[in-house]
Amino acid sequence: MQESNLFEGQLFDGKSSESKKVAVLVYSDRLVIHHQKEDGTTETQSWETNKLKDYQKLAKDFIQIQYGDFPLQTLEVKSETFAETFKPPVSGFQKVIHQVVHGGIITILAITFVVFAFLGFAYFYALPWLAEKSVVFVPKEYEVKMGESIYQSYIQSEEIDTAKTELANNFLKQIDFQTDYPLQVTVVKSSIKNAFALPGGHVVVYTELLDNMKSYEELAGLLGHEVGHVKQRHTTRNIFRSFSGYLLISIFLGDFSGVSATVLDNANQLHQLSYSRELESEADRTGFQTLKHNHIDAKGMISLFENLQKGNEAGNVVPEFLSTHPMTENRMIFIKDMIKKEKPAHIEHYFLEGLFKQMTVPKADY
Ligand SMILES: [Zn+2]
Repeated sequence: MQESNLFEGQLFDGKSSESKKVAVLVYSDRLVIHHQKEDGTTETQSWETNKLKDYQKLAKDFIQIQYGDFPLQTLEVKSETFAETFKPPVSGFQKVIHQVVHGGIITILAITFVVFAFLGFAYFYALPWLAEKSVVFVPKEYEVKMGESIYQSYIQSEEIDTAKTELANNFLKQIDFQTDYPLQVTVVKSSIKNAFALPGGHVVVYTELLDNMKSYEELAGLLGHEVGHVKQRHTTRNIFRSFSGYLLISIFLGDFSGVSATVLDNANQLHQLSYSRELESEADRTGFQTLKHNHIDAKGMISLFENLQKGNEAGNVVPEFLSTHPMTENRMIFIKDMIKKEKPAHIEHYFLEGLFKQMTVPKADY
């Protein structure tokens, strides 16, 4: 038995406010407390350590221990070595802390793993989600500026069909898209059947897609769908989601030029960001409403889907418009249902038809 298991303490018995001077003997499973009474006799009690009510290290050399239900007794020991000699069983949170401190490498590894798993989850799921949700706070002017920068960066490496672009913009202006975004369409020479929207109002249509259209209603349907992405801020949401890591870093650094530069560096990939099925449906619905509002035959959207689907079967690149392929069937059914339900009235738009024919009829070779 080590010599240091004997300590001096003060006992408050819970019955009188006076404390008693006691001798405390520390054993592995209990404390034995001796009190010598005035008459010379000794009162002894044993406190089992696993039944202690409370243990508090109030200072390095001041320990307070409580025991018993009624009366609740309190023992105070003033000794630096007491805390080293007497180690009560710990519970709950104390236990976790205790294990971290004393649990060794396995606990530390487990905790490190949990921390990293949490950070990973936060970075790859929570952060993009949060970034996407925060788009509602982004002012429209900022979106327009961002879209313009991306457009300028993107268009540098493309060849614009200026004649068709002018006609397409005239076509666009005839339709009320019910938005104050500054809409602008650009026809780009490309053998890929594709079209996409940038944040803030730019819509890009490839010649291969335009030239394969059968009617002005198809073009109106396509524009309605792409402008739907603009109005619902889908591309902005996608960009924020994809670049949330950079956004976070720039918030920490207080420097937004870095983010803009990064987004611009990736401008050429931006039009390849695909939308979720929900966003495509939302754009389809918005496109349908635009056609309905302008009294343009909504069947144009269905024939556009059919037209594009044929292109796909022939092994062409899947266009943005059909990026959720093979959901195209469902999207056609959705538009057919909308037509059945809402019975939109339509009229013939001869001016749109004229513009469309000029855009799609191949020019004669001189
Ligand atoms: Zn789309």
